[in-house]
Amino acid sequence: MELFKKNAKAPVELKPLGIYVHVPFCRSKCEYCDFYSLGGGLNQESMDLYLQAILTHIKEAAQRAVGYSVDSIYFGGGTPSFFGEQGLIRILSEIDRRFLVEKDAEITLEANPDSVTAQSLAKLRRAGFNRISIGVQCDDDAQLKSLGRPHTYKQAQMAVSQARRVGFANISVDLMFGLPSQSREQWMSTLRNVMDLKVDHISCYGLKVEPNTRLYEYRDCANLPDDDAQADMYFYAVETLESFGYVQYEISNFSLPGMECRHNMKYWTGQPYMGFGPAASSDFGGKRYTAAADLDRYITGVMEQGIILSECESIPLRERAGEYLMLRLRTAHGIEENEYMQTYLLPFEPLEKLLCMYETRGLAMKEESGRWRLTPKGFMVSNSILVQLLEAQQQSKPLAKVRK
Ligand code: SF4
Repeated sequence: MELFKKNAKAPVELKPLGIYVHVPFCRSKCEYCDFYSLGGGLNQESMDLYLQAILTHIKEAAQRAVGYSVDSIYFGGGTPSFFGEQGLIRILSEIDRRFLVEKDAEITLEANPDSVTAQSLAKLRRAGFNRISIGVQCDDDAQLKSLGRPHTYKQAQMAVSQARRVGFANISVDLMFGLPSQSREQWMSTLRNVMDLKVDHISCYGLKVEPNTRLYEYRDCANLPDDDAQADMYFYAVETLESFGYVQYEISNFSLPGMECRHNMKYWTGQPYMGFGPAASSDFGGKRYTAAADLDRYITGVMEQGIILSECESIPLRERAGEYLMLRLRTAHGIEENEYMQTYLLPFEPLEKLLCMYETRGLAMKEESGRWRLTPKGFMVSNSILVQLLEAQQQSKPLAKVRK
């Protein structure tokens, strides 16, 4: 984006910026959830204090964003829709007032089917939200209940159709596979039914049992599908979604052409973003920092100008080079020799040697453009591939000079 300063002859180049707002409230806590979210239902006093704190934080941080224009805003959580449209609209208008937000910015709201209505969606759409990501997970009400999800599949269908009716032209749904007692047939049924929703974007995550979740306590008797069964469900999803025109642009994300999530692509391609709210991370001004996952500490820290961060670090170039591999190889965009060498001043040969070996095993491929990417089979074993690539990277010596 270019702007003309008053009386200036040359246009000013603005750098793109993403904004993330973490809304840490949920109706109840799901059995598998390890995100920072408070699942105790409505607590109006906490919500009001949170709103005041986040508005103050936005005002203060915007002063550091001169020279940036915001091209994506993402409200995640938690369950932003449970926080209520009034508060969400208030936050969005504060961002719009304090930052330079591009006209065609992608503005996403995460929502659960039980906390939206046709009226609330219409208000949110009118206020500028133009993308919605709805937590559906599966089409089986008994499974949803056992996961602690406070909605049915019918409510999810209704939420999608209401969102479309009020003008959301970019609708995403989240699905999960590898659920307790889930059979392949049940997963096939979820995918079949979700195809009827004709959404623009689908995120498909395999269930991971994380410590500090309720599911972790009874994982051994939860009848979880084993690794092979989960891999089988994953490949089935990749094939099915491709046959319906969805492009796999990341390990777990599929979209109709041109409908990739701009916000997620920022994370995966190392673009700057600012986060607001407890547990929100930022990558801005060469530093990575994360607010403490503690609502009270966040509120007090912002309102009394105290410390709100739990981590803050400058990232050395070699570490950024490691992130380049880890994040880009999650995506279909992959990695490229000159881009890598010129940015990180490291040799590509040790990586290429390994990539050629993965290619013979059907785990990686070289595009005509010269970019290397993982195949769906490679995505499934990306952790072990990355360990080897990072080891090779660690052992490589910086280049004295980079050929162009
Ligand atoms: S709705 Fe989302 S954030 Fe809230 S408890 Fe469930 S999984 Fe976690």
